[in-house]
Order: sequence, then structure tokens, then C-alpha cells
Amino acid sequence: MSRIKVEKNVYNRNQELAEENRRRFQQAGAYVVNMISSPGSGKTSLIERLAPRCVAAGRRLFVIEGDVETERDADRLRRLGVEAVQIQTHGACHLDAAAVARALAGAELAGVDLLIIENVGNLICPTGFDLGEQLRIVVASTAEGDDKPLKYPAAYHKADVCILNKMDLLAWVDFDVERFEAAARRANAQLQLFRTSCRTGEGIDAWCDWLMQRRA
Ligand code: MG
Ligand code: ZN
Repeated sequence: MSRIKVEKNVYNRNQELAEENRRRFQQAGAYVVNMISSPGSGKTSLIERLAPRCVAAGRRLFVIEGDVETERDADRLRRLGVEAVQIQTHGACHLDAAAVARALAGAELAGVDLLIIENVGNLICPTGFDLGEQLRIVVASTAEGDDKPLKYPAAYHKADVCILNKMDLLAWVDFDVERFEAAARRANAQLQLFRTSCRTGEGIDAWCDWLMQRRA
């Protein structure tokens, strides 16, 4: 088989499994979010900030963490009382629908309001794999280049929401927020944009409130 045909089969098979996941999530009443970013932009920190707001709103949060190695991020969330499952890909640079299904095989999803899947830090191939989510968030940080949406347009084109994190670092880095947001909008004019800092709390209420409303 040609390489293109093999790749096409991989994506088709993933799409079938993603639809199975989506049916299961919808039956359970769980709203599912896929978070994509490069490593170190603050995905786990954003979930840590969201967790107490879920508790306050009476919403049950469940998180799947994707990393190449370690349970570190799942442990961080468990320390906050969040139910979390860690997927260690042992080398693979993205999650696929099958990995998500395996991670949830023994999980009771009934009563879960919000299921967040934190993808492996990578702006390239995670964008090509539907996991069965209803909402996709791409996270960037001011410690990265403000031209990321131009270099990795698919990550932005296929997302619903874009969070620019680490706003507290702006004084120390050469990052132009307007230029970044213009580039993000060029990749996807429908993107819902947020600016946050997990250190100062800036913008956290805005995106958490938006997410809770969207879920409802
Ligand atoms: Mg993480
Ligand atoms: Zn990959």
C-alpha cells in the first residue's frame, strides 16, 4: 500500500473511533474539550485554575492527561481532588481516539459534566486527530513567538477557542499581543480569544465562565 493510502486509513479509522467516543460522551452527558498546545504553554495550570470553579459551580470535572512519560500532570490535578487519568504515550507525539477510549475503558462517565483531554504538547499532529471532543482549545503563551499561528495554522484553523497564557510575562518578552491575535484570526476568523495568566489570575474568570456557559 502507498504511504498516502496508509495515512488515509489511519485517519479514517480514527474518525470512526472518535464518533464512537462522541456517542459515549453524549450518552453520559459529558461535555468534552480537547486542549492542544506546544509543551509548556500552561495547559495543566489552566485546568488547575478551572478545577475549584467547577467545584463551586457544582460541576464534576474529569481530566485525561497526555504526556510522553510520567504521571506528573495527573498527580498535580489529583492533589486538587480532580479525577484524572494519565496516558503515557512512551514516544508518540499525539493522542488518538483509540488511546482515549482505552484510558476511559473502566471509567464511570455518568455524572461527569466536563471532560478535559490535555493532549501531548505538540502543535502538529494532534491537530489531525479528532478525539470525539465537542470543543477544541489551542493554548499559546507569551513566552513563545507571536508568529506561531502563521507557522502552525492548522492548530488554529481547527480550534474553537484560543487562549493566550502567561500575560504576566509581557514586560519581559518581545511578544506583540495584537500581532498574535491578528495572526490567529487570519487562521480562523471564528476563534474565541482569551488572554490569561495562571500566576496573577488575569482573565481566568472570563474563560472559565465562558466554558461553563458553553457547557450548559
Ligand atoms: Mg501538562
Ligand atoms: Zn504525533
